[in-house]
Amino acid sequence: MSNIEFPFLKTKIDKVSKKFDLTDFEERKAYFELKAGKEIKLLREYLKENTFIAYLLGKKNSGKGTYAKMFQEVVDRERVEHFSIGDMVRELDKVIQDKKRKKELISFLEQNYRGFKPLEKVLEALEKRSTKVLLPSELILALVKKEIAKRGRKALFIDGFPRDLDQISYSLFFRDLIDYRADPDIFVLIDLPDTVIDQRIKSRVVCPLCQTSRNLKLLPTKKIGYDKKEKKFYLVCDNSQCRGARMVQKEGDEQGIEPLKERLKTDQKLLEQAFSLYGIPKILLRNSVPVDKAKEMLDDYEITPEYLYQWDGKAKRVKITEKPWQVLDQQGKPSYSLMPPPVVVSLIKQMAKVLGIA
Ligand SMILES: [Zn+2]
Repeated sequence: MSNIEFPFLKTKIDKVSKKFDLTDFEERKAYFELKAGKEIKLLREYLKENTFIAYLLGKKNSGKGTYAKMFQEVVDRERVEHFSIGDMVRELDKVIQDKKRKKELISFLEQNYRGFKPLEKVLEALEKRSTKVLLPSELILALVKKEIAKRGRKALFIDGFPRDLDQISYSLFFRDLIDYRADPDIFVLIDLPDTVIDQRIKSRVVCPLCQTSRNLKLLPTKKIGYDKKEKKFYLVCDNSQCRGARMVQKEGDEQGIEPLKERLKTDQKLLEQAFSLYGIPKILLRNSVPVDKAKEMLDDYEITPEYLYQWDGKAKRVKITEKPWQVLDQQGKPSYSLMPPPVVVSLIKQMAKVLGIA
């Protein structure tokens, strides 16, 4: 149970009834202009001379990357970067398998790694690592420094660090280590009900040919099929680069968050710990709004839709209906889950505030 009060942000503007299709890039641009145009301008101005470093903290699968990338898309593609530790670690597996790159990595680490485990042991662990074993924080820290140096002086969203409780204290001194001395660092805490994560996992599907991933319930393709024998609906991949196939569920996904329970608990602790820190500004984002507050706070199109299917035997086709996706939030209240853009509006407004420009 969370002790953090995540505020609601009213994104509805009274007497403005214009609707936007938030899945469309151009319409999204107009949407942000309307809802946060003033702050976007201020942020662009700020970024001409300054940067920030923002740590994204939220449970696994809480959309951290999505929000940061959208902020980048809307505010400034050149001066804002999103950087994921998960991607970095995955890349590391490739580096280890490449002789030349591995040698480079080792020589970098010989210069930059400081920790309690000998470097040889760390590298050994790296080579036969199962994804469940966490890499030592000292190693992560050295590697993140390397990645950041590569990117130059830009505002940064770091996704996946701190990842464990001991890393929180590292993050406090991190900007000093990487030459962001004068520029602010910020924690961005993201609240997302477990039920949302659970449902997202349970209904996600992937194309066996091109690995495109979609969601049967939340992000369907254009073509929906019906399996009469199994009495099940399925998506057909519509990626233009792909010849199209029936999309399937990955093994284990039918269990939802069950296998993630421990990770989610740690993530929650991490959020609480970060929240209780003094001296570092925090941005609080929430993904859900109670149903009884939605009318006054939100426009309908800001709510994530859910897709329902019916087989029309006569016309021999699938009938699709759309309705607002309702979930129970962490406190058990019926709530709507938001599309990413309204959450990013909140991120933009709070960012301008903590940077002292709005
Ligand atoms: Zn495909």
